[in-house]
Amino acid sequence: MATTHAAPAIDKDALRRKYAEERDKRLRADGSAQYKRLESEFSDLAADPYTPVKPREPVTDHVTFAFIGGGFAGLVTGARLKEAGIEDYRIIEKGGDFGGTWYWNRYPGAQCDTASMIYMPLLEETGHMPSEKYAHAPEIRDHCSRIGEHFDLYDNALFHTRVTDLAWDDAGKVWVIRTDRGDAFTANYIGMGTGPLHVAKLPGLPGIENFAGKSFHTSRWDYSYTGGTPEGAPMTALADKRVAIIGTGATAVQCVPHVARDAKEVFVFQRTPSSVDERNNVPIDPEWFAGVNEPGWQKKWQENFVANLGIGFPAEDLVDDGWTDLGKRIRAQVIDMAPEDRTPENIMAAFEDADNGKMEEIRERAQAIVDDPDTGEQLKAWYRQLCKRPCFHDEYLQAFNRPTTHLVHTEGQGVERITEKGVVANGKEYEVDCIIYASGFEVGTDFVARSGYDVTGRDGVRLSEYWKDGMRSFHGLHVHGFPNLFFVQQNQAAAFIANYPHNLVDHAVTVATVVSHAQANGHAEVEPTAEAQQKWIDFLLTGPGARIGSTECTPGYYNNEGQGYGEQERFALGHPAGAQGFFTHIDAWRRSGSFEGLEFR
Ligand code: NDP
Repeated sequence: MATTHAAPAIDKDALRRKYAEERDKRLRADGSAQYKRLESEFSDLAADPYTPVKPREPVTDHVTFAFIGGGFAGLVTGARLKEAGIEDYRIIEKGGDFGGTWYWNRYPGAQCDTASMIYMPLLEETGHMPSEKYAHAPEIRDHCSRIGEHFDLYDNALFHTRVTDLAWDDAGKVWVIRTDRGDAFTANYIGMGTGPLHVAKLPGLPGIENFAGKSFHTSRWDYSYTGGTPEGAPMTALADKRVAIIGTGATAVQCVPHVARDAKEVFVFQRTPSSVDERNNVPIDPEWFAGVNEPGWQKKWQENFVANLGIGFPAEDLVDDGWTDLGKRIRAQVIDMAPEDRTPENIMAAFEDADNGKMEEIRERAQAIVDDPDTGEQLKAWYRQLCKRPCFHDEYLQAFNRPTTHLVHTEGQGVERITEKGVVANGKEYEVDCIIYASGFEVGTDFVARSGYDVTGRDGVRLSEYWKDGMRSFHGLHVHGFPNLFFVQQNQAAAFIANYPHNLVDHAVTVATVVSHAQANGHAEVEPTAEAQQKWIDFLLTGPGARIGSTECTPGYYNNEGQGYGEQERFALGHPAGAQGFFTHIDAWRRSGSFEGLEFR
């Protein structure tokens, strides 16, 4: 991969105008309200197709620590707490096993877009060597089970269980947890890691309920209908089927090649093309891995990745992929500037130049790979790379060279409606046997609405009320008025997009450190002071604000479908010095041992 890049000869003003035109075509008045929630509106489609629900008696006991969510957050927090000697740790999970997003997303081709070496948590502790640079979903799901088994997290777990109510009992100094399975138990501490992308959505298309064929959302893939397996075995039952895929985001990019391979015909309904850069996946060589595998290697790799995304000048790039390439391009331009020219404006301009160069290459790639010039043109993404989730794939664009794969380009308008027989777009009805909705997940909606329960803290204060003007926390993890509660998520912390689990493993260390301190010193409660929390937020607000969500971008979930975020979402912030700034800060905070900002009682 090249490390320096000459500034491309691009007419910046013309490109800005083109981006604005393409965005304007897609803006719509109903914004995020165009979508329907899969679970509440289509409960039959939302049911768990993977694991039967086991009957069980309600639980009414007490545990030291309960965690809501059995994805990476709950697993890594459990691992660290078990290491700290907390034996009675309980995960409550709505799916039938651990994995979170990797439990639900079993569509063919599902794969991690971030390098396994940094993405898959606790590789050192569990002794697992990823099989590929970018692991496929079955391996990641197995790894979740591996963590669960390695740290004995299965024993106490409650699967197929949703929390319905969570309230602090100040007299008993415990949290009272109620669930939809009739459980009512208590815990000294509670953690939450419900993830940003766990509520599947469908486009709110007229007639969607009238389709007479088969339909499902990609996060509920029905292999009993398609045949095949999540591991990629051919979906033989599609051989005589005409299939529609609605959506062309990161999920569709991964599953389209598989459906294209197996179905009689596939129609891909595109509203906005994704930027699809090269993937270059390779198997991991055990000999090479043995050379890397020294104590502390994974932390070193994660920190190196973060450093390479910023505009610092790290000596090496261990991951070396499409994510770090953008950072490299910006640095290459900044290096050419005289030190006195490195103003914020000039750095932003360098950012734009680097982005323009990158996106031009990605557009040329589409044109070069796709045989039909019109289709190649229609697959070009006209926006800055971080306006939407960047995609990386070596078979997606190629799939459009099959005579049985049809791109239905809709000039930004999308599917119009669903009929009994199929899908209508550009005024034409496409008759199909099956409709697959690759339409994504709810993001940016109110935390309480998305979680499905409210949290009642001290003095009956509800989290929905406390956060009605925006999230308020200390380090993104603790909230004043909600003692012994930990939010294992990214906002007001590293708020970092490309390697999400890094936030989680780091928070898990903090949770274990704080809980160990409280336990060792006989404290019943820990909570941030109001002053420390306010000071932290004031500090975050000195930074550049949320890095994504610009209304100059094409609509999508990054920018609330083009409508931008209001006052409340202004607080979905990260550390002013970026992810690296947060990790450095929190490491020093933990090491100091003084827990400044927290009050133990
Ligand atoms: P997205 O929200 O990214 O994509 C939804 C798609 O549905 C978009 O292409 C959208 O078009 C389209 N759509 C919505 N309504 C219509 C309509 N009426 N007609 C036609 N198309 C329509 O969801 P994904 O599931 O693809 O991805 C969600 C996130 O999950 C990703 O951004 C990523 O963070 C994560 N992910 C990560 C992966 C990984 O690491 N490997 C893999 C897959 C997902 P439009 O763009 O115009 O809104």
